[in-house]
Amino acid sequence: MQDKSGTKGFFFRKRGFSKSYDSRYLVSDYQKLCIGFSLDPARRQMGSSGGVGTEISGFLLENRIVETVIGVGFSQDRPYLPEYQAVQNVEDIRKISGSKYVYMEFDSLKKLIDLEKEKETAVFLQPCFVRAVRQMQKNGYTNIKYIISFFCGYNITEDATEYLIKKAGVRKENIDEMAYRWGEYPGGFMVRTKDGRVVRFGKECYELVDLMFLRKGCKKCSLYMGEGADIVLGDAWINSLKNASVVMARTGAGAALIEKMERENKVKLFGIKERELVRMHWHNLKYKKYGMGFFLNLIHQIVKRKAIRSLIPFRLSMFLSKQRRKWVIGIDVDLGEEPLAAADRK
Ligand SMILES: Cc1cc2nc3c(=O)[nH]c(=O)nc-3n(C[C@H](O)[C@H](O)[C@H](O)COP(=O)(O)OP(=O)(O)OC[C@H]3O[C@@H](n4cnc5c(N)ncnc54)[C@H](O)[C@@H]3O)c2cc1C
Ligand code: SF4
Repeated sequence: MQDKSGTKGFFFRKRGFSKSYDSRYLVSDYQKLCIGFSLDPARRQMGSSGGVGTEISGFLLENRIVETVIGVGFSQDRPYLPEYQAVQNVEDIRKISGSKYVYMEFDSLKKLIDLEKEKETAVFLQPCFVRAVRQMQKNGYTNIKYIISFFCGYNITEDATEYLIKKAGVRKENIDEMAYRWGEYPGGFMVRTKDGRVVRFGKECYELVDLMFLRKGCKKCSLYMGEGADIVLGDAWINSLKNASVVMARTGAGAALIEKMERENKVKLFGIKERELVRMHWHNLKYKKYGMGFFLNLIHQIVKRKAIRSLIPFRLSMFLSKQRRKWVIGIDVDLGEEPLAAADRK
């Protein structure tokens, strides 16, 4: 039986925690766990954290391991609208690089998978779609070679993007480029207008926006680390290393791909212990696996109301979030040179 009762028996702080935790429930099965980044500086920069997702797309296409990679890019006509896209050329991986902080609908993913059905495919998707796409693999979609997912703390509706665009003081028709993780790590929301004006908010803007526009189904979702995918990527919140991703291979196929990329000097990987991962992501794991605490829930109930949203001082809340992040996010870790063997990783 999994202990869903709460944090009883735990003593978690930013700098450390002791006692046991339920690994199967919090992390679930995996074969390889590391921290890493792309060794191609341009791809590392393109990505949201270590550019490992971008590097995987490039590696799979360059080596003809798959013929198409499905990820999320922006609509060409409406550069503020995230959409699933299929990429066949290495030169195009930039189009699907980087996180798009918006809930994507399964139907549009399914349509694209159907369109690409004759091609060997790798697909990036939300943790909640992993099971459905695994089922598709069993039911004839044997062309899907890799399912790649990410850590999914909060996911938000399209209104969140609209809100940020409004706060940036830009009209949608005037947007030339948009990004959710742009600029110096960890990056933030950015819009560039057709006449070259850039407006940017730090990543802390998402703390407020995540609560204001948290999708109903996402509030109740306990999936966090792409459970069941071949490879899962997340932010590596380590004080001594910027622009790095958590890289978790959950299947043999995922582990083999990551190892091949490492052997061919495409990614740099460091070993990390599982309890360090839990400590690093405890701020989200706690909420995903044991539910939103009283205080956070209260704030959510208040700020989700349309009438309240317009009254919230955006800049002040960003300032407060920035201070909170300094306290809650980022740990010190001794990075081992090699990814740890299964027996050593706890
Ligand atoms: C909605 C969302 C919530 C997230 N929440 C967390 C979190 O709470 N904690 C955390 O540590 N990390 C979270 N991440 C993951 C994080 O933002 C990075 O994606 C991850 O660290 C990998 O970075 P990278 O530089 O290695 O990947 P990149 O090189 O940036 O590649 C990312 C890949 O993911 C694909 N992608 C981007 N957005 C989506 C999407 N919405 N749906 C499907 N595929 C997509 C891209 O097409 C690309 O192929 C979240 C990501 C998303 C999209
Ligand atoms: S929070 Fe859960 S339901 Fe929402 S997108 Fe992420 S995995 Fe899917």
